[in-house]
Amino acid sequence: MTERKSQLAANLARVEERISSACAAAGRKREEVTLIVVTKTYPASDVRLLADLGVRHVAENKDQDAAPKAAACADLPLTWHFVGQLQTNKVRSVAGYAHVVQSVDRPKLVTALSAAAGRAGRELGCLIQVALDAESGAEGVRGGAAPDRIGELARLVAEAPGLRLDGLMTVAPLAGPYAGRERAAFEQLMELSSRLRAAHPTATMVSAGMSGDLEQAVAAGATHVRVGTAVLGDRPRLG
Ligand SMILES: *Cc1c(COP(=O)(O)O)cnc(C)c1O
Repeated sequence: MTERKSQLAANLARVEERISSACAAAGRKREEVTLIVVTKTYPASDVRLLADLGVRHVAENKDQDAAPKAAACADLPLTWHFVGQLQTNKVRSVAGYAHVVQSVDRPKLVTALSAAAGRAGRELGCLIQVALDAESGAEGVRGGAAPDRIGELARLVAEAPGLRLDGLMTVAPLAGPYAGRERAAFEQLMELSSRLRAAHPTATMVSAGMSGDLEQAVAAGATHVRVGTAVLGDRPRLG
């Protein structure tokens, strides 16, 4: 093994241990939680090593980096998640490689994704990104729709050709009533998820938890955790 590969293997083993312990503590089965490795800012060569180490889900947040990386890794058995704020002019590109878009937060994006999925002849999974710090009706600072917008967005996605409503995603808020209260934030997301599932029973994905708070997300009931730095190392600070 190269030095980088052993480093990634060791990091993955530590993250795996954290997820297993969190599942055990919550009385959940390990298979109930899927690890998504966030490979943003890291090269395609790392994605290749991760695939070799058994990773099957990766995530990116910027189309300009993700598109060439996904193209360079097209031979690998990977599911690509897009988790960043998405401009409608990037949607056509994203629809070419992403299997799941986790950051759906406004009606215009639903329309654009549906058109792009149709053109690409692909079905795109969609998660509605919830901003638990958004004022009623507003968009969150890091993207995301206010909780009272979920119902409308879910209906639009469910009715849009080429799109599949898979569930909800959130990032623990840094401001507002949930700042510093990750567990409470993720429990609120679970509550919103059960309401969503009452109307859309197949929208079962709950994507929450990152390197710093995956235990709280697993405890609350998340089905997917998105882990970057704990697997790949600290990212160089961008801008
Ligand atoms: C970067 C990122 C992550 C991973 O964060 P880490 O702290 O590196 O684990 C998860 N979700 C989203 C939306 C991200 O942008």
